[in-house]
Amino acid sequence: MAVDIHLPSIMKVGGGAISELQDMLLTLGIKSPCIIADPVMVSLGKVESITSMLASYASNIEVFSDVMPEPDDKSINGAVSLVKQSQCDGLIALGGGSAIDSAKAIALLASHGGQMRDYKVPQVVTQQSIPIIAIPTTAGTGSECTRVTVISDSQSAEKMLCMGPGLMPKAAILDYELTLSVPYRVAADTGLDALTHAIEAYVSKKSNPFSDQQAIAAMRLIAPNIIKACKTPQDKAAKEAMMLGASLAGLAFSNASVALVHGMSRPLGVHFHVPHGMSNAMLLPLVTQYSLTGNSEKYAEVAHYLGLVDESNITNIADSHERLIEFLHHLNQELDVPTMSSFGIEKAPYDDIIELMATQAIASGSPGNNPKVPAH
Ligand code: NAD
Repeated sequence: MAVDIHLPSIMKVGGGAISELQDMLLTLGIKSPCIIADPVMVSLGKVESITSMLASYASNIEVFSDVMPEPDDKSINGAVSLVKQSQCDGLIALGGGSAIDSAKAIALLASHGGQMRDYKVPQVVTQQSIPIIAIPTTAGTGSECTRVTVISDSQSAEKMLCMGPGLMPKAAILDYELTLSVPYRVAADTGLDALTHAIEAYVSKKSNPFSDQQAIAAMRLIAPNIIKACKTPQDKAAKEAMMLGASLAGLAFSNASVALVHGMSRPLGVHFHVPHGMSNAMLLPLVTQYSLTGNSEKYAEVAHYLGLVDESNITNIADSHERLIEFLHHLNQELDVPTMSSFGIEKAPYDDIIELMATQAIASGSPGNNPKVPAH
């Protein structure tokens, strides 16, 4: 059966690729762009370096630099008004997943109106909006290559998943040099997010030959480089591998799906204020352990692609599974991921919240893509 594959139309990949931004604007016919970024990008001088680079190209470049981490629907209202009033014809999303997801939501609402909750799954965003050039500065979410945005609903405290081909950025610039300034904790959380995307895409019930190849390439890049990229941030080869791995993992899950880890992680993030990558990492070893029997062969292959077992030993399923679970626990220890209980997340006294989290997880559709689907 044929599968639909969605990608950005143009990608510039490599150290220094950001210098080609002006060419990209020209190619896409964007004359009045708005930069979408957070205050950290301003303080690091990254916004200023783009406005200077484009000074001779565009006479009016708007800047919205109030992106909030893990954005909610209210946080983007100012940007929607700015983009409409200034008649911006394209967005430059500069930052981590929060800036890129905000830009996707801003483009959608500025072009088509409504509220983000009108577009959450099971709705499918097919409408094309003003184009986005996504420039990730973290190696993690892969949002530059996904037809997904995640925006919290400030009324219902739900981290809403919005999906559809209309949310795919038109172009992406993957310049790993922009990630050299990422602090250790952000590098670890975002790297573990990328690893989770690759694994979940590979074992997902919606995986397909295209997404499998992206996921395999991502696992092969991420596993040997994630610790180096976090602990020796000037290791450019490791940073480049992580940037590529994260984007490939984004392509993989966007063309397959994520699964139970993400379904549980979004409510954990919004109710207990855990950064997205960290909540995925907290859940990954336990959820993988639970899910192994749902697709034993594919999980054994995951162990192989992560470099934990030779190809000749994949058929030793029990051994492959054991090594996989050990590796995931070890990685969390090495990268100082807190346990859920050390973060104050306990069943009691939060029974009501946990019931709501389960309802929100199921509504997102992600758990249904898991190799083993839990009963509720
Ligand atoms: P983030 O964008 O919130 O950034 C985390 C922190 O790192 C911020 O303070 C940011 O300013 C800082 N930072 C980013 N780049 C930096 C750099 N180069 N140097 C120094 N500091 C830097 O974190 P994130 O993990 O990239 O994104 C998380 C968001 O992405 C969540 O809302 C999550 O739900 C969403 N997400 C979206 C998708 C998708 O496909 N759309 C996939 C996964 C996650």
